[in-house]
Amino acid sequence: SERIFGGFRKTSERLSENLTGIVGKSRLDDAQLDDLEDALILSDLGPRAAARIRERLAGERFERGVDELAVKEAVAREIAEILRPVAKPLDVVAFPRPQVILVIGVNGSGKTTTIAKLAHLFQEQDYAVMLAAGDTFRAAAIGQLGVWADRLGVPIIKGPEGGDPASVVFDAVKSATDRGTDALIVDTAGRLQNKRELMDELAKIRKVLGRLNPEAPHDVVLVLDATNGQNALSQIEIFREVAGVTGLIMTKLDGTARGGVLVAAAEQYGLPIHAIGVGETMDDLRPFDPDLVARVIA
Ligand code: GDP
Repeated sequence: SERIFGGFRKTSERLSENLTGIVGKSRLDDAQLDDLEDALILSDLGPRAAARIRERLAGERFERGVDELAVKEAVAREIAEILRPVAKPLDVVAFPRPQVILVIGVNGSGKTTTIAKLAHLFQEQDYAVMLAAGDTFRAAAIGQLGVWADRLGVPIIKGPEGGDPASVVFDAVKSATDRGTDALIVDTAGRLQNKRELMDELAKIRKVLGRLNPEAPHDVVLVLDATNGQNALSQIEIFREVAGVTGLIMTKLDGTARGGVLVAAAEQYGLPIHAIGVGETMDDLRPFDPDLVARVIA
């Protein structure tokens, strides 16, 4: 659990540095509120969350007087309030089965690893899982997903490199349906360089899925790398437009100072946050606990 909050601890250190020496009577004055707002922005919480927290704290009476600890407690309470409504685990509930989970995100964000982590989580919940290698553009991606599938002992449906991702997905749904698979997790291409192509590719996957089951895909999970800071937010923007997004998983929260971006994402987009990634092994996916995260950040 040391590792879980490496990222948030660094965020927290950054926030602390900026709040050190904040003292006063029972209210924060305008200059202190300005400093607080700046500190929150520097901690990657984003302008909207920072303004909201500033406003809430402007109206706050500190009975014991203003000091670093009291301000941090109030900030933690406000962060928890922003995060609570978006905390939502990814549950396997689809009927009829399988639940089809499209996983999207730019290359390098941790998509493949997150798919393996999710598969592992579902296995632990006794669900039958299948993977589909829908990123046919990168031979390495197919290979890497295959390695994880072997390690986890889950079936994987692949196509040839350069093949049609929609046909891989078609085969996968057929196979998952025949086998009574509970959750089918689909890897997809992450080439944002060619937005039009990616959009067409994802639209075609959706069309094929929709023909097999009008409810599918049940989830479109965007994987975001927390170390990208505010860039992660523009990725939400782009992927919402390109693919539609039903929820987020943020990765690499071990060891980055940019964990605050999770709060910015929650405040600005309100998309469900399913889980967080805190390392490179299949056990390194954690449920998203808003109160815990808020306490560690502030
Ligand atoms: P993809 O290109 O999006 O499929 O990304 P990968 O799953 O291959 O991950 C890219 C790199 O990030 C790999 O070296 C992973 O081991 C690493 N990685 C993925 N998730 C995490 C995480 O939560 N924490 C850390 N520290 N590394 C991660």
